[in-house]
Amino acid sequence: MYTIRKDGSGCGDTRAQVTDLRSLRLTALAKVPVGIANLGMRVLSRFIAAATDVSHFPVPSVPEIAFLGRSNVGKSSVINSLVGTKLARTSSTPGRTRSINFYEIRWPGKPRPELIFADLPGYGYAKISREVSQEWPKFIEPYLNERTTLALCVALVDVNVPPQDSDRKLLDFLSATGRSVLVVATKSDRLSNNQLHNVLRDLGGQYPSARLLPYSAKTGAGRDELWRQIRQVAQQIPAAAPSTPQH
Ligand code: GDP
Repeated sequence: MYTIRKDGSGCGDTRAQVTDLRSLRLTALAKVPVGIANLGMRVLSRFIAAATDVSHFPVPSVPEIAFLGRSNVGKSSVINSLVGTKLARTSSTPGRTRSINFYEIRWPGKPRPELIFADLPGYGYAKISREVSQEWPKFIEPYLNERTTLALCVALVDVNVPPQDSDRKLLDFLSATGRSVLVVATKSDRLSNNQLHNVLRDLGGQYPSARLLPYSAKTGAGRDELWRQIRQVAQQIPAAAPSTPQH
């Protein structure tokens, strides 16, 4: 039995919403007063690099969280809602962002960044084959395969769009890398609880080994739980030792 709330605010506690797709069981249930949960989520964020080649990647330092998804899935909105500011540009032109954009995340009062968010180029639409053949091997695949500090891949799927081939390919690819993957089901506010339940069940059938978190950048539903997941995996991998910056 699991519950899905359309709005994570105003009820005095924040119930975790990660769903194990194999059984649609609630795998975590955290009772944290909203005020306290939100206190830990004020972050400072800063753009640090746009990479279109491996040589542009920042020197590995703190744990990194990669955000992946089809163009228009709501990736920029998820990133912006996590950091509470317009960090990533929401795009009106599908597939416009062709670089991996790196953002440093720091907690107020801490001298150094704790995390890096890596916003990967949106894929999908007609250009998918060209994207895959030209850009993925050049810098995206090396990032996903070899980046030592990559702690979690957040793969976004839109709950309003039926499962797509391109999403399946991405999830297969990620599963082959052995990376920790969380599927975030975006724009959950557009569906009723019943519809969302059905979509999650269908996604469970499509991606049987994935963990799933319904999310709405609009209402904030899922935000606290996504932060919890991010911080949890980030603590599991040690940050790389500081090294001399490369130019
Ligand atoms: P990106 O191309 O993946 O970065 O997607 P964007 O973040 O630019 O969002 C694409 C469109 O979906 C925009 O029109 C957003 O306003 C809309 N959108 C994004 N997140 C949500 C959400 O949680 N709820 C609703 N209703 N719309 C959203």
